Amino acid sequence: MAEPLLRADALTRHYRVSRGLLRGHATVYSLSEVSFSLQAGQTLAVVGESGCGKSTLARQLTMIERPSAGALWLDGVDVATAESAAQAALRRQVQMVFQNPYASLNPRQTVFATLEEPLRINTALGPTERRERSADWLARVGLHPEHGRRYPHMFSGGQRQRIAIARAMILQPRIVVADEPVSALDVSIQAQILNLFMDLQAEFGMACVFISHNLGVVEHMADRVMVMYLGRIVEIGDKRRLFARPLHPYTQALMSATPAIRAADRRPAIAIHGELPSALAPPSGCAFHHRCPQASNRCAAELPLLREFNGQQVACHRVEEWAPQSWA
Ligand code: SF4
Repeated sequence: MAEPLLRADALTRHYRVSRGLLRGHATVYSLSEVSFSLQAGQTLAVVGESGCGKSTLARQLTMIERPSAGALWLDGVDVATAESAAQAALRRQVQMVFQNPYASLNPRQTVFATLEEPLRINTALGPTERRERSADWLARVGLHPEHGRRYPHMFSGGQRQRIAIARAMILQPRIVVADEPVSALDVSIQAQILNLFMDLQAEFGMACVFISHNLGVVEHMADRVMVMYLGRIVEIGDKRRLFARPLHPYTQALMSATPAIRAADRRPAIAIHGELPSALAPPSGCAFHHRCPQASNRCAAELPLLREFNGQQVACHRVEEWAPQSWA
């Protein structure tokens, strides 16, 4: 297999927070030892409940924050130790589309100003070329070039997300990190935005890290799926395999909670009780053991490591007991 475009090695992000005058500090374990790779042109979906570390991961990948430990390699270059000029060049290669198209655009800037800003900072293009490039991108995302003179409040949510996608794509990045890019939109608009993403990916070949809690959307978009729980990967693998045979009890529960229109696609309900534990005090052993219907004594004592099982990677002590080795 070709060298991955992006590789995370034990990527970790912990935050030190104050608990008040007399109680000192505490650590929030938002992301712990996350390792994965992303090939050029591939879409990796990241799924899990709110608080599982998806957005913290997005901030590391887009270099908005530095990891507390671990390494992030982009095109064979370690992002954390690269010279500042090299880091700036690497940052251009990874762009982000945010969840909320209402908050992600500057209300005081025209659309042309929003689109031209990254060109002004990162390229040697003159004003005329910047304007032409911006108008071209408005057309590519399904808007009219004359929309460039308007302000964000003059657009619908779907149109604003199209502008946000144009802004992310205008530097032709190699990776787009999309953090719940359609969850704030009407259902009728979501499919249009997802199809726009897929069309741009087919044309420009960028890789995509697609963060979503909607497994229906993930199944539509992803090549590979990474399931996270309390800052750690619990399962990662090829989309078809993972949807056909989820191995980790948490993945199984997530899938069973996803509504299916066709009766044949419906899965037996698996109830998990309680809420995601606090990242301030992660449980011992497997962080899922308080909620897991399969938990044993070992699960409370020993952290399960991510390991290969039938072509997927899963972090569970007991997976052999319900997943025969003969699954291929
Ligand atoms: Fe459940 Fe134990 Fe597997 Fe964790 S390690 S998912 S608690 S069976």
